[in-house]
Amino acid sequence: MKEFDLIKHYFSEQSVNRKDVIEGIGDDCAILQPNEKQQLAVTTDTLVAGVHFPIETLARAVGHKVIAVSLSDLAAMGAEPAWVSLAITLPSIDEKWIKDFCSGVFELCEYFNVQLIGGDTTQGPLSITVTAQGFTPVGKHIPRGGANAGDWLYVTGEVGDAALALQVIQGKIKVETIYQETLQRKLDFPQPRVLVGQVLRDYASAAIDISDGLAADLAHICVASNVGVNLIIDNLPLSTAMRDTLSLDSAYKMALNGGDDYELLFTVCDDNKVAMETAIANTGVNITCIGQLNSSHKITTLLNGEHIYIDLQGFEHFS
Ligand code: ADP
Ligand code: MG
Repeated sequence: MKEFDLIKHYFSEQSVNRKDVIEGIGDDCAILQPNEKQQLAVTTDTLVAGVHFPIETLARAVGHKVIAVSLSDLAAMGAEPAWVSLAITLPSIDEKWIKDFCSGVFELCEYFNVQLIGGDTTQGPLSITVTAQGFTPVGKHIPRGGANAGDWLYVTGEVGDAALALQVIQGKIKVETIYQETLQRKLDFPQPRVLVGQVLRDYASAAIDISDGLAADLAHICVASNVGVNLIIDNLPLSTAMRDTLSLDSAYKMALNGGDDYELLFTVCDDNKVAMETAIANTGVNITCIGQLNSSHKITTLLNGEHIYIDLQGFEHFS
């Protein structure tokens, strides 16, 4: 049984169905409505040493990343982050490590005005769980399931660099020295697209953050929205490091199947396209249109206007 079947089979079915749970299990965050004026977005993510980050990762980077991945889920719902809780399991007390870890945590928290409000500290193999909470205006969160045939598909930033960085660290791929630092930074210090997410509330029909890989997370939008997509491979935003290191074919595959990018993948109806592009231009974050949705229930890949077959995968635990 795979990760998502397991969640569906064992955790999604329950006898309690509260009216204040607007979105339960299945999206980047749950959406809760404590009163008629406000909605809360809530997400939990765990990073396990050796699974989600190489053991030798700098403590500051681990601290940054654990906050970044949670804020990225809030961004994918269009939420404004407010609070985090931190549960940490440590093999031993290494004060230098903890100090550096905390600097990574608090740097990002300060930047987004997010307060650490609690957590838990235990002994065992290194693993960190963060629950992040934020606000969305009532009825304005961006679901995975709101996309329609005809909508345009966009992605922020560049994709595939985190996967490339991991392969470089693992010694599987060599890159020119000038790219080493930027790639390492992309993997260790992802920038959650918090502002873009909030701007998209007024324009996007669906959104998800790319944690498992563009193709896998696009499939989540397609399944939840009951649509398919023509994906224009030529348009995939690739960094110079990617283009200079890999053949175009390998770069496309890595951009589609590599995880850990924490960019936003979102859809916009034709009527909102121009206004959205103008609004996002003000955030300073690049976005690229990479396809259009249809009613096929399939992901079709096009290169130079012609269909090509690409083996689409994505990270899944227990697969
Ligand atoms: P993301 O990659 O956006 O963090 P996941 O793929 O981890 O999301 O999870 C998919 C959905 O399943 C989310 O809504 C998440 O809250 C839910 N989920 C995952 N594990 C569990 C669990 N053990 N119990 C309840 N819900 C879960
Ligand atoms: Mg997510």
